[in-house]
Amino acid sequence: MNDERRALPAVHRILDHPTIAPYEYLAGRVALHDAANAELERARAATPVPSFDEVIAHVGERLEVLSAQELHRVINATGILLHTNLGRAPVAKRAFEGASAIGAGYSNLEFDLIGGERGSRYDRVTALLREITGAQDSLVVNNGAAAVLLILDTYARGREVIVSRNQLIEIGGGFRLPEVLARSGAKLVEVGTTNRVYLNDVANALSPQTALIMRSHPSNYRIEGFVHDVRGDELAQFGGRVGVPVVEDLGSGALVDLREYGLAHERTVQNAVSDGISLVAFSGDKLLGGPQAGVIVGTCAHVARLRSNPLLRALRVDKITLAILAETLRLHRTRESRAEIPFYAMLAVSPEVLRARAQRYADALDGARVVEMDGFVGGGSLPGERIASIGIALQPPSADALAARLRRNRPAIIARVHDGRVLFDLRTVAREDDEFLLAALRRTVK
Ligand SMILES: *Cc1c(COP(=O)(O)O)cnc(C)c1O
Repeated sequence: MNDERRALPAVHRILDHPTIAPYEYLAGRVALHDAANAELERARAATPVPSFDEVIAHVGERLEVLSAQELHRVINATGILLHTNLGRAPVAKRAFEGASAIGAGYSNLEFDLIGGERGSRYDRVTALLREITGAQDSLVVNNGAAAVLLILDTYARGREVIVSRNQLIEIGGGFRLPEVLARSGAKLVEVGTTNRVYLNDVANALSPQTALIMRSHPSNYRIEGFVHDVRGDELAQFGGRVGVPVVEDLGSGALVDLREYGLAHERTVQNAVSDGISLVAFSGDKLLGGPQAGVIVGTCAHVARLRSNPLLRALRVDKITLAILAETLRLHRTRESRAEIPFYAMLAVSPEVLRARAQRYADALDGARVVEMDGFVGGGSLPGERIASIGIALQPPSADALAARLRRNRPAIIARVHDGRVLFDLRTVAREDDEFLLAALRRTVK
């Protein structure tokens, strides 16, 4: 062994180094050891032999890669309000606080406090959903996909489901309606053409094997031009006449008319219920602004059938989710309280406020410019609908390199890269994160 080889540091000197030691809590002692040993092995084979500082930097890099795989808080400067990759809807603080006592302790999740007997977890939010949507009954499962699966499994196993050809959707994450249908043992009967579907198409497809007529929300695309669709109320009336339940996969599940927030009209849960749809399914973490969940509302008789399906046990929802969902639904009761739900708070921020915030960044940062930009609702809701917004633009030598450095902050900062610029839409950045973001940008933009 020559002198240079002997100069490699001992493992404990690496692990105790102030750059490395802080990783121990997150990654664990074993991972630190493994990273140090792997790096020392590499260093032994390298010429020239790396310096101590280089070894530390490389071990730090290995641990950084490891720790980036953990869940971290992120500052979302993309302007996409419901960003599925960033956890979709942020939850209202009040909803989270209310849920924390339930989650950290015991609760009456399946216990009837009056009768002292076993109760049903699924009834927890029924009163709220009845009040808000006008539906008779409700059921909550893990997510929207589970809600659709439960409905199809309950009604359509070995039977036929009529779906309009213009609604055979694929949403992100591998959810394709035709495949979910096949999976649940149902036979898909497509009707109409890609752009035009009439009630007559549905009527002609009816057979003794028809279990359901299904409507699905084309969440993430829009067909324009020479189009025709069957209205929800027409379909529900038709289903009633021929004795076939009409179900709707509403997807984003708005509980309020989004025109109140300056967006295009989006069919609401209330619209579907008052149209007479038998069962309506939607997500908890899209336009509802709550936790990941799949909500089903409908008539007592139909929800009762879903409740008796043994599959429900595999899709059942957790107490923390139910607690957050209940609090979020309470906040939906008035426009004032709805403003506590981050999604609606972000929608309501005025251009003046955004401009003033952006100006502060521009004043404090070399080369930063205030720019107008378009944000999006995201999460497969209101495709193509732009939300006029304001933020800042930076034009560094390499936009991708700056974006990568910003992702290394904790909380990580996620910006948009476009045309050689890094764009920060301030609508999706919480106001209380401005100080952190500004400080991080001043450090990083050099
Ligand atoms: C988002 C969506 C789903 C899936 O809901 P998840 O909660 O993501 O499982 C199903 N159908 C439609 C129409 C959707 O938009």
